[in-house]
Amino acid sequence: AAQRVGANRQQLYTADLDASAKHHADLAAALRRGLDQGEFRLFYQPIVELPLGRISAVEALIRWFPQSGSPDAPASPASPASAASAVSPVSPAEFIPVAEQTGMIVDLGAWILDQACADAAAWRARFGDAAPRISVNVSARQLLDPELPALVADLLRRHDLPPQQVTLEITETAVFAGGPALQTVHALRGLGVGIALDDFGTGHSSLTLLRTCPVTTLKVDKSFIDELNGSPQQEAIAASLSGIASTLGLRAVAEGVETQDQADRLHVLGYRFAQGYHFARPQPATEIDASLLAAV
Ligand code: C2E
Ligand code: MG
Ligand code: MG
Ligand code: MG
Repeated sequence: AAQRVGANRQQLYTADLDASAKHHADLAAALRRGLDQGEFRLFYQPIVELPLGRISAVEALIRWFPQSGSPDAPASPASPASAASAVSPVSPAEFIPVAEQTGMIVDLGAWILDQACADAAAWRARFGDAAPRISVNVSARQLLDPELPALVADLLRRHDLPPQQVTLEITETAVFAGGPALQTVHALRGLGVGIALDDFGTGHSSLTLLRTCPVTTLKVDKSFIDELNGSPQQEAIAASLSGIASTLGLRAVAEGVETQDQADRLHVLGYRFAQGYHFARPQPATEIDASLLAAV
């Protein structure tokens, strides 16, 4: 009997794997279709200067609005196409990993960079030196593409953007092993664009990386910003991270700021830049336009 149970389990397990492999393949195909059919949008979340909250930069965060509804939810063919924009988007946390595994992130990433540069150029045309810098997330798989620096150089030229206007956000895990990904980051930095280490402090080699990776910005992870008030230990860590940044001549950005108390403490602890729902959510470019206009 024990053997039978074991055999059944094995069968169930295989069925699960088949189901998840199928889901994976379906999602990959839907992503490809989505790119061809223009279902992706870039939202932008302000990175503000403390204490007043002036928009200093904006981070591009991708959103996917599948025309046929969420790939997980049953499609609702009855709903009119115009309702698609009211539907909430699929989270990048769900599809970026799949886009990475299939290599599709290379094409999607090229679209993201092009769109972000186009939006940045439009802000420059409209707001001149008051235009925000843009920050674009670049995934590990993109850094393994030897053509990336040439692509970025070409985009800067085509959109007539000064490189200082653009920052690329990378993660520690993408570059900690050194090798070609790290070389690519050096080539990108050589173009004059900024390099931000995203989710800083959560990897295994955060400090070591500062010696080898040509970084200009540390984005201090939300986990170090949460519970700032009332935790002396948390405050000491947050203060040390901003101290390291200023000693090395880097900017520090506090991620995931959700309250005024946190913003106040961060300013006292030496942070000049912050990002989070307390200041603004990720939003369409047109809404950023409106905020910039209101600030002029
Ligand atoms: P990330 O680059 O660290 O982006 C920060 C994430 O935290 C965003 O989630 C943002 O909406 C969220 N966030 C911002 N402020 C707050 C806050 O105050 N509280 C909380 N709870 N969350 C906050 P999002 O947009 O869902 O993106 C998740 C991750 O997906 C990003 O993390 C990034 O790793 C990846 N991603 C997003 N867009 C892109 C992209 O265009 N390209 C690539 N390669 N990856 C992307
Ligand atoms: Mg980021
Ligand atoms: Mg981050
Ligand atoms: Mg993150």
